[in-house]
Amino acid sequence: MVSTQLIVESGLRYLPESGAAKENRSPNQQLLPLTANVNSRDRLEIGGCEVTALVEQFGSPLYILDEETLRTACSQYRDAFKRYYRGESQVLYASKAWSCLAVCAIVADEGLGIDVVSAGELHTALQAGVSPGKIYFHGNNKSREELQLAVESGCITVADNWHDLETLSELGKLGVSSKIGGPTRIMVRFTPGIECHTHDYIKTGQIDSKFGFDPNSLNDVFKFISEQPSLYCVGVHAHIGSQIFELQPHDDLADVIVDALTKAISYGLPATEINIGGGLGIRYTEADDPPSIEAWASTVCTAVVAACKRQDLPLPKLLCEPGRSLVGTACVTAYTVGSQKVIPGVRTYLAVDGGMSDNPRPITYQSLYRVLAAGKMSVPLTETVTIAGKHCESGDILIKDAKLPECGTGDILAVPATGAYNYSMASNYNRVPRPAAVLVRDGKVDTIIERETYQDLLRFDRLPEKLKTQK
Ligand SMILES: *Cc1c(COP(=O)(O)O)cnc(C)c1O
Repeated sequence: MVSTQLIVESGLRYLPESGAAKENRSPNQQLLPLTANVNSRDRLEIGGCEVTALVEQFGSPLYILDEETLRTACSQYRDAFKRYYRGESQVLYASKAWSCLAVCAIVADEGLGIDVVSAGELHTALQAGVSPGKIYFHGNNKSREELQLAVESGCITVADNWHDLETLSELGKLGVSSKIGGPTRIMVRFTPGIECHTHDYIKTGQIDSKFGFDPNSLNDVFKFISEQPSLYCVGVHAHIGSQIFELQPHDDLADVIVDALTKAISYGLPATEINIGGGLGIRYTEADDPPSIEAWASTVCTAVVAACKRQDLPLPKLLCEPGRSLVGTACVTAYTVGSQKVIPGVRTYLAVDGGMSDNPRPITYQSLYRVLAAGKMSVPLTETVTIAGKHCESGDILIKDAKLPECGTGDILAVPATGAYNYSMASNYNRVPRPAAVLVRDGKVDTIIERETYQDLLRFDRLPEKLKTQK
């Protein structure tokens, strides 16, 4: 007799397909890191380390960063730009996705440069040993202090608005210059007027955006720069948004940005670089189907080559600055289940020991995630439960209607694709210490960020003398 039993899937469905060689898979198209595996004890392993054992050793919540996935994403970008572009190219890591010493050092070791958006991120990149000549400083409201630090460090400042240009010009007149020599190098960022389909909060390309110069002001901008002896304009920049699955907007961007470069050159500026930004999306759930890193790079390069040909322009140095698609898939966050609340006929909540303080994306952007039971990988997904965080907000829900095997207090859950905009957006809401992060590779583990302690939470608190005697 043929069994009519329903086939219920297990957490194994989330593992990378076993077909293609590991190094040929585009990390951003996977749900789990490339090294994800299930061992003989039915436990999830990342980088050869058992997730449940890592939690035993380091506690939870725990960010688990897979070095191989991060390095593979870097090398795929780097090699694809070499393959599809005959001119010079430089991939930058948009470090706002996850700025810390170890991540900056790994991407720099892979030959990437770094884009920073604050003096804090600049300091992190410099301390990680990144060469200033490969650091690009963004931001729509850089302070005078930040601009001075940028100029003195010798990094390239991306001028976003008149405030940047006027302050840089003043600093030049005051004799502020690079401590490592060379001119004050700048790029000009403008809004390209390209719409894409993504969350409103992460769109940046449309005309109504707080970032970059209005494209109609570029003549005035280039004329102003051409009159500033201290400023050396190396090129132009545009970024259209984040978590983008379409290739067309990047295809369209090539023409717009090559036109802007041509305009800069017409004002006598030594502009030879274009930066087409980042934005390639990643897979958070099975419904997400982003193009591969290679497909994105090939589209961008082909479009830039064609645009330069139309303008009869020699190939400029081509930069791009992905963040999410470099680091997003490389990390999994592990949590421990604590309390449960069963509302019969309505919903079952499983609460974990973190939430919106370590992953603010669901509450900020209504982002979807998947979750796995790290110790029960092949057990059928028979339960539908909602994974709640521990914070005092009803909206602190990490995953609604998650499919899991039967789980309860003490079970370890793993949420994939948490490398980008998780740690970097983490907070101490409810005075919850921020989690530790570990780097895993070939069964070895290194702490890259220490878990905060309760004492750390008080580091900046000061109790005025007059309150000290109170009991
Ligand atoms: C955020 C940002 C990026 C990176 O975007 P991703 O979607 O993470 O690739 C690149 N450039 C600029 C200017 C950005 O603001």
